[in-house]
Amino acid sequence: MHTPHADVVIAGCGPTGAMLAAELRLHDISVIVLDKDTEPAPASRIVGLHIRSLELMAMRGLLDRVLHNGRRRPAAGFYAAIPKPAPTGLDTPYAYMVGIPQPVINRLLADHATENGAHIRPGHTVTGLHQDDHGVTVELAHGEPLRARHLVGCDGAHSTVRKLLGVAFPGEPARNDTLMGEMEADTPPEEITATLARLRDHHQRLWLRPAGPGLYTVVVPAATVTDRTEPPTLDDFRRQLHALTGTDFGVHSPRWLSRFGDATRLADHYRVGRVLLAGDAAHVHPPIGGQGLNLGVQDAVNLGWKLAAHIRGWAPDTLLDTYHAERHPVAAAVLDNTRAQMELSAAEPGPQAVRRLLTELMDIDAVNRRLIEKITAIDIRYDFGEGPDLLGRRIPDIDVKHGNLYSLLRHGRGLLIDRTERLTTGGWSDRVDHLADPTAGLDVPSVLLRPDGHVAWIGDDQRDLDAHLARWFGR
Ligand SMILES: Cc1cc2nc3c(=O)[nH]c(=O)nc-3n(C[C@H](O)[C@H](O)[C@H](O)COP(=O)(O)OP(=O)(O)OC[C@H]3O[C@@H](n4cnc5c(N)ncnc54)[C@H](O)[C@@H]3O)c2cc1C
Repeated sequence: MHTPHADVVIAGCGPTGAMLAAELRLHDISVIVLDKDTEPAPASRIVGLHIRSLELMAMRGLLDRVLHNGRRRPAAGFYAAIPKPAPTGLDTPYAYMVGIPQPVINRLLADHATENGAHIRPGHTVTGLHQDDHGVTVELAHGEPLRARHLVGCDGAHSTVRKLLGVAFPGEPARNDTLMGEMEADTPPEEITATLARLRDHHQRLWLRPAGPGLYTVVVPAATVTDRTEPPTLDDFRRQLHALTGTDFGVHSPRWLSRFGDATRLADHYRVGRVLLAGDAAHVHPPIGGQGLNLGVQDAVNLGWKLAAHIRGWAPDTLLDTYHAERHPVAAAVLDNTRAQMELSAAEPGPQAVRRLLTELMDIDAVNRRLIEKITAIDIRYDFGEGPDLLGRRIPDIDVKHGNLYSLLRHGRGLLIDRTERLTTGGWSDRVDHLADPTAGLDVPSVLLRPDGHVAWIGDDQRDLDAHLARWFGR
């Protein structure tokens, strides 16, 4: 048996891997994050961070950095890009979306992981793995293998870790590829706008959006679906623009060019022994509604404390398996809502008629709110068994004495919010904090929150609380 280099090796330092590393570090778990790339990916597309992710950023003290680097927008207009105002009554102080370039959020999360003590190693490609009773040996394209107690594959849609595990990835293959890039255009802006306005009803995937003086983010359907091993060229963009609009708008001087598909797939298993999957390695879907990065970051926050507890030795036997049990259905629901949004965006008369109908129904505030709650992931209710509706849900950032609730969750520990002032966390006080606060903005006597902010128990009875503390935080 080799001495482990780290408790956990994470393959992939995208948003999921970086967030997971930081979460593990909250529990003093040693982490090495490997990434095959030596430089951040250049494609500087703007991604949307939705409410639940913003809540998690607030919880871990990252929201100010995100807001400083991104742009706040209304929580509206992203369900199938149907333009509607934000619904009223969203149950959160963070009722907005933040648009932020993906390289920037990736960097913020990687910095957060490093500041918390994770070791990030760029230029390290995972090529093989072997697990035994004591740990996992991780083989690299260059250099000595690494040994860890656990490996987590956060290595994106084409995950090597998932393939090495032989985990099935069923779903639908890509039907359409889309080209996306940033480049200059010689055609005057007003001419571009007029040409696109004429074509808007027929081509939902055709945009030239200003990205700076003379600079545009260009999106255009690709001619064919490919395996994406070959990067697109400027000529691919020119040809497709010409075919759809009659002009290539004189595009030139590309800053970056990329291609993405609309495959929809979900891994059968999120855990095989000591190896786990998270983020795009576990699920892929078209980017409509902007959910993939959000989903991956939320996987990471669900998994981090559980894997840490497992390594520390206090996790109840089944705790680590609740990661798959909770997150697999969430991803399945996201895949379904992207399927629905893709149908609503198809150009045929049938889907267009359904789109008009839904557009009308979204004038009902409750319908609009329900759809936005889905995409922003504040509707999630994990199945913790019978109980009040609040059980298994996240609670918003309510006021508590001396401040706000989320600031008390910064260190990734459990929290008892005790409005009765007569409960105790007893033998669990090394992993669960206790806030005795009769003024806390809740309409139940007390709640036990997990480190990811989900409600694990509601009540006022100490023995019942002890049983639930044991269920989630060990004996
Ligand atoms: C056009 C477009 C727009 C999008 N907009 C949004 C949006 O608005 N909101 C949203 O939430 N999501 C959006 N997404 C989705 C989002 O980009 C992804 O879901 C997100 O990047 C997934 O993060 P990840 O960390 O799981 O994987 P990735 O970001 O793919 O990161 C995986 C990392 O693993 C590394 N890696 C791969 N193989 C290996 C290996 N063998 N060894 C070591 N390292 C390896 C890679 O270099 C990479 O750094 C969009 C996607 C596209 C294409």
